[in-house]
Amino acid sequence: MNPSSQSGTRSSLQRLLLKRFSMAAATYALTGLLCGVGAFTGLFNAPPLAVLSIAALAALSQILFLGLFLSRFNLRFADPSLTELQVLVALVWLTALLSLFSEGRGSLLVIYMLILLFGVFQLPPKVFARCALVAFLGFAGLNLYEAYTLQLRAPRMALMQACVLSVVLVWLCLFASYAQALRQRMRKRRFALQAHQDTLRGMMRQLEDLAATDELTGLYNRRHFLRLASRELEGLRSGRQHGLALLDLDHFKRINDMHGHAAGDRVLQTFAVVARACLREGDVLARYGGEEFVLLLPNTEADQFSACCERLREAFSHAEPLGVKLEGLSVSIGMTLLGVHDDLDDALQRADQALYQAKREGRNRCAATWEQVDA
Ligand code: GH3
Ligand code: MG
Ligand code: MG
Repeated sequence: MNPSSQSGTRSSLQRLLLKRFSMAAATYALTGLLCGVGAFTGLFNAPPLAVLSIAALAALSQILFLGLFLSRFNLRFADPSLTELQVLVALVWLTALLSLFSEGRGSLLVIYMLILLFGVFQLPPKVFARCALVAFLGFAGLNLYEAYTLQLRAPRMALMQACVLSVVLVWLCLFASYAQALRQRMRKRRFALQAHQDTLRGMMRQLEDLAATDELTGLYNRRHFLRLASRELEGLRSGRQHGLALLDLDHFKRINDMHGHAAGDRVLQTFAVVARACLREGDVLARYGGEEFVLLLPNTEADQFSACCERLREAFSHAEPLGVKLEGLSVSIGMTLLGVHDDLDDALQRADQALYQAKREGRNRCAATWEQVDA
């Protein structure tokens, strides 16, 4: 993954974590509201100062968490969501709060589930079970302590509540491990899907290459050349020009007739290698058909372009195709220049006429549609 996409993923993770943090903070606020309702109905008659102290400490812990998220310090932890820590802290505050309410304590038991629900999809099953155990031990320990200090008012009710809590916690643990297994299965499917997509993309690229390439020479084919040339022509700025040339191997039929079709193929391949070596990156060479090739030199001058074609013609005349004893290989080249607003078909026709002229004048030469000054 490149650094920019990595930081993008991190930012979206932080956004998600802040969203989850605000949900947790809202749960704290709602619990405070419930305490207010409990106090209003007279069910919760804890000393206000003690309740306020717990509320203040809980708020402080939330501010600390917010600081961790905003400073991105959380990213240094193995689990940047800090879910386990947040759940444990919330469980401690809830147990502390419950210790203040003897009557009506049962109605706040459900908050244990709310807190643990935050970890259902996030925590590994073992960690989740650990948190559930902390919740149970907190509640059971609180009641046992009160029973020991003879403060427990309704022991049978407390026993019932502890039993209900343990059943719900066990159920939540099972649900958490099911959710985790489901997540892992989905992750595996996503990876498999991604692998399929990569394979498909690779195949598409291969197909595109195949559709654009001439099998024998490995050069672009005519269709792809026309596409590229049109694109180059569109991008041509005023005052600049492209060079366009048609290149036709001389007396190629003779080579086929005298040495066989396979030797002819070898000559075509040799031409492709030699021509490529004479060109620069950005120059577009393609097999136009049979023993004809087409060349586009973007942003060039007339003399520069004819020098390039001349170099190519010269190089091919010295080429020695492997395994074929041949002398006097040659190519004729018809050149033209493409200006802004020029038509590609017209330009190809001009190059063809120049090629015809090169053939007529004796082959193994370059002819241009403009006045050439001999070097
Ligand atoms: P000129 O100098 O006037 O261009 O004569 P030429 O013999 O090169 O041209 P002509 O058009 O008479 O012959 C071209 C030959 O190229 C005919 C065709 O069989 C052969 N050819 C076309 N495609 C291939 C190919 O893929 N492989 C081989 N070996 N020969 C091919
Ligand atoms: Mg020909
Ligand atoms: Mg020919």
